[in-house]
Amino acid sequence: MADYRKMWEDLGMDLENHDALCEVLPVAFGDVYLSQENRPEGMAFYDFVISEIHGVRPSELIAHQEQGGKVFGTFCVYVPDEIIFAAGGIATGLCGGSQFWVPGGEKVLPKGTCPLIKASVGARLDRTCPFFRIADIYVGETTCDGKKKAWEILADDVPMHVMDLPQMKREKDHAKWAEEIEAFKEVVEKTTGNTVTVENLNDAIVMINNKRKALARVYDARKNDIIPISGKDALLMTQIAFYDDPVRCAEMANALADELEERVKNGISVFPEGTKRILLTGTPMSVPNWKIHHIVETSGGAVVCEEMCTGTRYFEHLVDENQTTLEGQYKALSDRYMKNNCACFTPNTNRIDDILRLAEEYNVDGVIDVNLKFCTLYDTEGYSVEKTLREKGIPVLGIETDYTDTDAEQLRTRIEAFLELMN
Ligand code: SF4
Ligand code: SF4
Repeated sequence: MADYRKMWEDLGMDLENHDALCEVLPVAFGDVYLSQENRPEGMAFYDFVISEIHGVRPSELIAHQEQGGKVFGTFCVYVPDEIIFAAGGIATGLCGGSQFWVPGGEKVLPKGTCPLIKASVGARLDRTCPFFRIADIYVGETTCDGKKKAWEILADDVPMHVMDLPQMKREKDHAKWAEEIEAFKEVVEKTTGNTVTVENLNDAIVMINNKRKALARVYDARKNDIIPISGKDALLMTQIAFYDDPVRCAEMANALADELEERVKNGISVFPEGTKRILLTGTPMSVPNWKIHHIVETSGGAVVCEEMCTGTRYFEHLVDENQTTLEGQYKALSDRYMKNNCACFTPNTNRIDDILRLAEEYNVDGVIDVNLKFCTLYDTEGYSVEKTLREKGIPVLGIETDYTDTDAEQLRTRIEAFLELMN
């Protein structure tokens, strides 16, 4: 990795602690990723990004700030990046996916908070992640209770704007989210000093739609009997999409999709024939959380789809590009984002419909419903998800886990048994 020490120092990071993180990540990545065989060549880009994860993109964000630009840190797939990019800002995902940051979060949060929230707070307060240092402002949302309270703690340390997400999907809720998007636009304009216009918002809508289409192409390639990419690699692409430049993200995903489509034509699969095809559903898997994919794919299964925010929820559905007024665009954005089916909504039967549809589209042999420990929303919804799948005769395994490795062997035993059952 190039030498980014000076940059990290200027960001006020805790270098000593950060060194410890820099030591473990490459080892974990090597074990999980570089041990795979027959990977698509297009993954070289993503491997490079990971090898420089705290250097290369942060340097670009700092260069943007040096030109007077602003960086917005976000935590949820309901936050419309389009508004930020329209005003010349940059959006970057901030969700923490490493156990390394959890103890820092536990200093201020109850232990019974989900690891994603604890890691996100810990990464900020412990000053061990450049992305969390660089962002000029954080954008939270009123999705789950843990997040709502975490924003209050973070607001003591960093400028914070919270978007009030409705929890139902009636017409008035769509209108309410459109209003919130308009209010967010005011905040973005104030922060960047730039005005959002119909033209620049339309450009941003097209740009983010193009990114969604590119990611969807990679996922489409996974629907084939020939599986041209491992679930682990597809997950890595999605995780990196949250903070890469959207145009480059689309370019790289399209190049990867070209290669995967070619592999399918030529019958090149990364798994032996007969490998059990698994759909993962549940809570998000932020980088570097590769635990379940790794266990499934080293136990004789293949992850072919993720019904998660780090999966289909991130790219399915496009925003209408034909609106000619800002009001029309806010409504179009609201309509698209409200098609996401997070467990924070009630009722949320559309998510179950999504899971059934994806199980069919990706021709899966079984579903693993994965919940991050202490996520009451997804845990509770797991009851209906698993019940419906069983009724439809689709094998399902529900698991709850966190970012530690302490349960890895126990999970492996359960996942192996689940895969075995499908034979
Ligand atoms: S699971 Fe829900 S709250 Fe979490 S990122 Fe996804 S949409 Fe947002
Ligand atoms: S995983 Fe659950 S508890 Fe954690 S942030 Fe997402 S919705 Fe909230």
